Amino acid sequence: MTDHESPQGVSEVDKESAKNTKHKKAMEKQKAKVDANIDRAQEEKGIMVLLTGDGKGKTSSGFGMVLRALGYGQRVGIVQFIKGVQKSGEELFISERFPEVYFHQMGTGFTWNTQDRSGDIAAAERTWEHATKLLTDPSYDLVLLDELTYMIAYQYLDEAMILSTLQNRPFEQSLIVTGRGGGSALQALADTVSEVKDVKHAFRAGIKARPGVDY
Ligand code: ATP
Ligand code: MG
Repeated sequence: MTDHESPQGVSEVDKESAKNTKHKKAMEKQKAKVDANIDRAQEEKGIMVLLTGDGKGKTSSGFGMVLRALGYGQRVGIVQFIKGVQKSGEELFISERFPEVYFHQMGTGFTWNTQDRSGDIAAAERTWEHATKLLTDPSYDLVLLDELTYMIAYQYLDEAMILSTLQNRPFEQSLIVTGRGGGSALQALADTVSEVKDVKHAFRAGIKARPGVDY
């Protein structure tokens, strides 16, 4: 028995080569599957993505797609329905370096801070006007409606009116909606729905929110 042989007499080299062959076969199978799926997905239309759930990563994922769209020279519009006291990194970056991006924020704080229902509703309605402007303009390739779900959940805006505006947006326009909840009708309307699961969050271990990570 040489150094490279196991007690059963199969050399380590043979084992590696068997593993490589198995891997290649599995990858061939996987590639055939992926290729078949790519062939099947032939429809060209704007996609509505809903990013929901209790975990961290919804807004930042939305801005990740904004970055992708900008990379292709696409026209992007962003409306944020809830704003923290702190300016976010994405707001600072976009307003300073990408003034061509349409960026509107509701301007009021979180509803648990304002504690003013009628003021919030008026602000929501004013903000929705900005969303409507984007959702009726085919020159926008990508629209991000950040935290829109809360406007439905708190009944600040009419759900049927929101859904019909989203549905009737320009055919080629993609749309991202973020926020917890939002209801089953919004989920049904979306083409892609991802639920970010909260497994753990640093905040609950007493770690302070950090610029560049949390805002
Ligand atoms: P992000 O903006 O980081 O992508 P998000 O959009 O998924 O987060 P929101 O509910 O909009 O989450 O809350 C935004 C802020 O709250 C962020 O600072 C984020 O780190 C924090 N946060 C998100 N999820 C949780 C959680 N489960 N527990 C505590 N804080 C959270
Ligand atoms: Mg968010």
